[in-house]
Amino acid sequence: MTNIAIIGDEKTGRTSLASKLGKKGTDSDITLFDDDRHERKYVYVDAKSYPKSIKSIMAALNLADMALLCVTPNGMTPHTGECIIALDLLGMKHGVIVITKSDTSYPMEIDAFSQKLRKMIVGTVLEKWDIQVINTNKDAPNAFEGLEELKNKIHDLADIIEPEQKTKDNLPPRVVIDHFFNVTGIGIVVLGKVLQGTIHTHDKIGLWPVDKKVDIRSIQTHDIDVKSAATGARVGLALKGLLERELDRGYLLSNDEIVATEFEINCTLSKFAKGGIELEDVVHMFVGLQSEPVRVKKIIVGGAEKEKVGPGESCILKLLSSKKIAYNKDDQFLFAGLEDNQRFTAVGKPV
Ligand code: GDP
Ligand code: MG
Repeated sequence: MTNIAIIGDEKTGRTSLASKLGKKGTDSDITLFDDDRHERKYVYVDAKSYPKSIKSIMAALNLADMALLCVTPNGMTPHTGECIIALDLLGMKHGVIVITKSDTSYPMEIDAFSQKLRKMIVGTVLEKWDIQVINTNKDAPNAFEGLEELKNKIHDLADIIEPEQKTKDNLPPRVVIDHFFNVTGIGIVVLGKVLQGTIHTHDKIGLWPVDKKVDIRSIQTHDIDVKSAATGARVGLALKGLLERELDRGYLLSNDEIVATEFEINCTLSKFAKGGIELEDVVHMFVGLQSEPVRVKKIIVGGAEKEKVGPGESCILKLLSSKKIAYNKDDQFLFAGLEDNQRFTAVGKPV
């Protein structure tokens, strides 16, 4: 199964495109669209509440194996730039730049815009992405132009992603939870994605950062009961042994996680993190789908303690959170300041 984030500035046709690609399902600050009509299965995650909420785009990207970045022929906006920085910081290898609303411009203008875009993404992870021009306006003379080509490009990327997932099927299981609710007669149901490994019904598995064992009573993918689910699968799990109030977005089902409220992260700041990061700043930390404000307690640059670290620089940040966060040593930690126009400031891994 390939999970695809649909991101971009507001009114770039993200939801219109998502609803052409799949069937609408779970809806919160992200909306899931399911496409199980083919042998190959796709789940699209529309970062619906972005740009207002960066949690929305972080959730979509952290659930995704690839991304579609929507831009209109009217040009780049500051939020398009912010999306590119987020993709680059997270190192999103696979994706397509989708120039939407092609009926609102002219082929020559769109060509010129594509070339401008190509120049802007040089040196970022998007450099190798294809560009696809589409429209989703059924009343346009060129209605649905580019949609089949886009689907083919997604399919080609799934050809690379699915074998990558298979290599992780035998790793220890790890599932990230994005939604959860109480279903009368069933109990707690969680929705999420198998990040690695394979889960089976009747498995006993840890819930983190709560640190307790739960039973997997049943597993569904695409609304069908299954006995097991492997890497990349989007799943609904009925769980036994926990209460709804013990859950939160981003919690993990796994047998081994680190749980902490203090962190030491080897960070690199974005070149576009204008304000840098200062001692005692409160920054927003994203680890998978968990997010929490944290206070900067120490900044170490080249072995020496500093008051401040600037754009493009590397450092070790010591951070303090008021809530427990579960992670492992390979997880990416992403940092954002909530006031700036370009909010994403740094990325790193535990020391
Ligand atoms: P989102 O905010 O990125 O999810 O954008 P929407 O999908 O909600 O689209 C915003 C507006 O643009 C809506 O009024 C859509 O009907 C319109 N729209 C979306 N795609 C196209 C398109 O290809 N052509 C035209 N002309 N309008 C479009
Ligand atoms: Mg929308």
